[in-house]
Amino acid sequence: MSVNLLDFDAAGLTAFLAEHGEKPFRARQVLRWIHRFGQSDFDAMTDIAKSLREKLKANASVIVPAIVSDKLSDDGTRKFLFDVGGGNAIETVFIPENERGTLCISTQAGCALDCSFCSTGKQGFNRNLTVAEIIGQLWQANQALGADPRRADHSERIISNVVLMGMGEPLANLENTVTALRLMLDDNAYGLSRRRVTVSTSGLVPAMDRLRDECPVALAVSLHAPNDALRDQLVPINRKYPLRELMSACNRYLQKAPRDFVTFEYVMLDGVNDSDRQARELLEVTRNVSCKFNLIPFNPFPGSPYRCSPVHRIRRFAEILIDANLVTTTRKTRGDDIDAACGQLAGLVLDRTQRTARRIIDLHEVRAP
Ligand code: SAH
Ligand code: SF4
Repeated sequence: MSVNLLDFDAAGLTAFLAEHGEKPFRARQVLRWIHRFGQSDFDAMTDIAKSLREKLKANASVIVPAIVSDKLSDDGTRKFLFDVGGGNAIETVFIPENERGTLCISTQAGCALDCSFCSTGKQGFNRNLTVAEIIGQLWQANQALGADPRRADHSERIISNVVLMGMGEPLANLENTVTALRLMLDDNAYGLSRRRVTVSTSGLVPAMDRLRDECPVALAVSLHAPNDALRDQLVPINRKYPLRELMSACNRYLQKAPRDFVTFEYVMLDGVNDSDRQARELLEVTRNVSCKFNLIPFNPFPGSPYRCSPVHRIRRFAEILIDANLVTTTRKTRGDDIDAACGQLAGLVLDRTQRTARRIIDLHEVRAP
């Protein structure tokens, strides 16, 4: 049976090649070809002995998820839709900014955690993505964005940052996520620093501890409410891991985190979690954690019961946090003309097509499948 080499990090590839009598340095070579140079054809791996190339051709392959659509927003945001089989599609969004280019990737098809303001959650859970499907999003985006890592030095990298904030809960697919993270950090693969890779979690406390021990990268936590009563409703996993436990887990994480703060994400829901009193309550509940805040304007989707807070409310909420010396940013909504904004990432091609058709959008088909 053919093994997909995209499922392996360095350790996995070393073990696989050892089974075929090959030395560890071969794994580094193969890894570089696949991830740094984006090569999936073994015949093109010219500095690898012909005998090994023949072995690889007989026993292995490099299979990336297929791009079914590739859309460019007016603001430069680019959204890729990947077919992962069985009617499931996942999305990856590239967000160019002046000094960096961030790729937002998915870790599951759907999500089981059912946060009440999230369209992915509303679709239910289909399955975990494989390592190949997680890292394949980066592989494909690199190719599509025309990165040539043989020439580009660090500062020229088109994808300089990766955030696991697409579809799914990364820590509910911990093992595959960690293997994919190791590839992102590996100098023979994508060579990103830990600070430039961010995992966003809704707060799976035991898995936060495991991530800390296995592969600490920057951490964002989806908070969204300043007390358990409200968070129980918005983020139902809070019933299992309430705020007190979550805050302790953040502090344990910080002991090994590459950054000395956790980013708390807070979606702004009109009349639900956006009052002055709630901002002050938020200061109280996060008092013992070194943190920054990222306020996310709510992105509506069909059938959702919420509205986004008005701009003046978001500004006032931010002011209260800033006055308490907390670094607070308000996320710009990007790519909403192509349904690429937070929480709009859809699970089913069918669903997406219908939603897209309902909108008046201005997008350019960059590449058809
Ligand atoms: N499951 C992880 C990561 C994916 S969601 C998590 O929940 O953190 C990425 C971010 O988008 C989270 O902060 C999530 O709460 C936010 N989000 C989800 N739906 C949204 C919506 N409709 N509008 C704005 N942000 C949303
Ligand atoms: Fe899942 Fe995150 Fe959406 Fe909650 S916000 S349903 S954890 S993807």
